[in-house]
Amino acid sequence: MPELPEIISRAREMKRILAGKTITGIEVIQPKCLNMRPATFKKRLTGAAVLDVTHHGKWLFIHTSQGYLLLNLGMGADVLLTTRKRLPEKYQFIFDLDDGKCMSVRFWWFGYVHYAPEGKLGKHEMTAKLGPDALEISREEFREMVRGRRGGAKMFLLNQENIAGIGNAYVQDILFLAGLHPSTTLDRLKDDEIDRLWQAIRDGLLPAAKKGGSWYEKTLRGKPGGFLYEDLLVGYREGKPCPTCGTDVVKLRTGSTQSFICPSCQRKKRAAVRKRTAKRSRAAAQADAVKKAAGKRRST
Ligand SMILES: [Zn+2]
Repeated sequence: MPELPEIISRAREMKRILAGKTITGIEVIQPKCLNMRPATFKKRLTGAAVLDVTHHGKWLFIHTSQGYLLLNLGMGADVLLTTRKRLPEKYQFIFDLDDGKCMSVRFWWFGYVHYAPEGKLGKHEMTAKLGPDALEISREEFREMVRGRRGGAKMFLLNQENIAGIGNAYVQDILFLAGLHPSTTLDRLKDDEIDRLWQAIRDGLLPAAKKGGSWYEKTLRGKPGGFLYEDLLVGYREGKPCPTCGTDVVKLRTGSTQSFICPSCQRKKRAAVRKRTAKRSRAAAQADAVKKAAGKRRST
């Protein structure tokens, strides 16, 4: 699934390739991905010149002279710069360009190809409700957002309405870098641990973004990204040694997703549990002492 590093890389690449070009025609094979009738969609964007390409979380924003073309690649997609003569076998959309090339889009599962008029981006529900971009949020904003919040750290990071751009692939290394077990609840975190989590988001995403995204997603020219399996720290590395302590990485089921952790570096926070146990054992010790005393009294 493409996450922030892949989306950043696609946006950068699209900007380089598409800016200055005009969309001369659009072919819609799968209208279910649109947010309007195909005829309206085509009318809005045909003749539009691409001005800029940006991103927010997992969404790509192609800003044109006639409004925004919004892409969400869902579980993954082949977005290819090609020609009508060299079209891939399957595709759901074609955007013809004025230089004779075209951009084909094929979603592996499902994705969105939406339109938003200029000045109306805030009315596009799906992108308007996204939380701040995971790499744009400041340390202070993040601290403010997390402080006193309930719920597990992993589920928090994956919810796009909290922060946008993290999915189940990069979240593994982010939690590892923060030294957190996926089910650690946020209300247990102290300020320095929240800061460490903020830093871990950056350290978990930026190296992949710099390398053009992960190897399992392709560029517009059909090449794999430069962030390789070996570059992952614990994600998908079950049975491999932890890069910090050498303990074998284990796979867990946490909620509806799978997690990969180092069981030594990412321990469950047991502070509250330990306190309870301590209380219980103190009580047990007292009970023992009472029993002993009673026994002694009986024997004398
Ligand atoms: Zn470890």
